[in-house]
Amino acid sequence: MCKKAEESAALPCITMDGRKLSICANAGSPEEAEQAAAYDVDGIGLFRSEFLYMQQGRFPTEDEQFQAYQSAVHWMKGREVTIRTLDIGGDKGLDYFQIPKEDNPFLGCRAIRICLNRPDIFKTQLRAILRASAFGRVRILFPMITSLEELEKAQAILGVCKDELSEEGRPFDKGLETGIMIETPAAVLLAQELASRVDFFSIGTNDLTQYILAADRGNPAVATLYNPFHPAVLRSIQHVIRAGHEHHIPVGMCGELAGNIEAARLLLGMGLDEFSMSASGSPRIKQELRAASCESAMAAAAEVLKSPYIVSG
Ligand code: PEP
Ligand code: MG
Repeated sequence: MCKKAEESAALPCITMDGRKLSICANAGSPEEAEQAAAYDVDGIGLFRSEFLYMQQGRFPTEDEQFQAYQSAVHWMKGREVTIRTLDIGGDKGLDYFQIPKEDNPFLGCRAIRICLNRPDIFKTQLRAILRASAFGRVRILFPMITSLEELEKAQAILGVCKDELSEEGRPFDKGLETGIMIETPAAVLLAQELASRVDFFSIGTNDLTQYILAADRGNPAVATLYNPFHPAVLRSIQHVIRAGHEHHIPVGMCGELAGNIEAARLLLGMGLDEFSMSASGSPRIKQELRAASCESAMAAAAEVLKSPYIVSG
């Protein structure tokens, strides 16, 4: 880390003209949450829960999951921890849970689709997250949402878990916030309606870019086409931020673009509220945003968004 970035890492991220931004870390395990805490981030913007399912040859129990989530909450010491529900399928498989072979796994059984098909697996995780919420500030994040129906089904299952825990006398945060990842074109186009049903959005640019541009995120043959600075991706991001703000919910980003120094001022100008990235990348982004003014970033972003060509990145 360069010295200047290191010095300002502990300071809050406030732009030259006074806008407070939330700079968070992505973490894939409680150990990574512990490491993130050392970077003075505002919280965990994306806690990927897949590690729990990958470390042993069976589904993790509710108690095992609860301990892992509680541990991340513990390391964050009162700061927010956004736990994403299981996102397997696509490029992430489980040896003990075979999904029938698919020609296009990224367009197949993945993430929330699996959870809605298997409420038993989903409920175990939701109960564990709810229980961890009794120990700190936890938010739940549903991945790969493409419709209101999916969101409403997920919320209904969450409601069942809350009722069960209440009946069992187990504590959880009754005000726990739920949000969705915006990472499909369908979610972009439904952003207004989705925004009125959740507490926050988190834009997943890794998937959003591949789905908008029809360019597999892991295929080197189309790597030059996979560009989050493509105007179709940038305009989608702008649309989502506006929809979120019209419904008074914060909009974050947890895809790689949030940690890209070339994108920081552009995203600031588009109105992004929370930037979540690898913890080690956070001091540099913080430094960049602290040196920026919102007003000039907005003017510059408006120019970029006007162009139908790729103008940066
Ligand atoms: C994303 O798609 O941008 C994202 C953060 O999720 P993942 O990379 O885990 O699919
Ligand atoms: Mg994703």
